[in-house]
Amino acid sequence: VTDAEGARSSLEREHASLRQQMAELDINDEAGDYDDNFADTAQVAAEQGEARAIFRSLQAELADVESALQRLDAGTYGLCEKCSAPIGEARLEAMPAARYCINCAD
Ligand SMILES: [Zn+2]
Repeated sequence: VTDAEGARSSLEREHASLRQQMAELDINDEAGDYDDNFADTAQVAAEQGEARAIFRSLQAELADVESALQRLDAGTYGLCEKCSAPIGEARLEAMPAARYCINCAD
């Protein structure tokens, strides 16, 4: 049996850490947020592009973590979203926010 409380605390830690990393990136999704003078060089533009790419991947991870927390509340945590098979403890330990079993992961 998967340790639901253990999973919840690692997910909550992960959630807090992702929020923290996103706050540090200081990205605003609204276009035109940047100061034109500040974004005047190609290097700054490249750094902003990179920060946005990182931000998007953090956002995707955050969505996975939030969905895993919802499944914990619903009592379906640890089950594959595609085929409903148990995801497996080792896999969940490595990836507490995993949505799919190893067979459906690709
Ligand atoms: Zn599956």
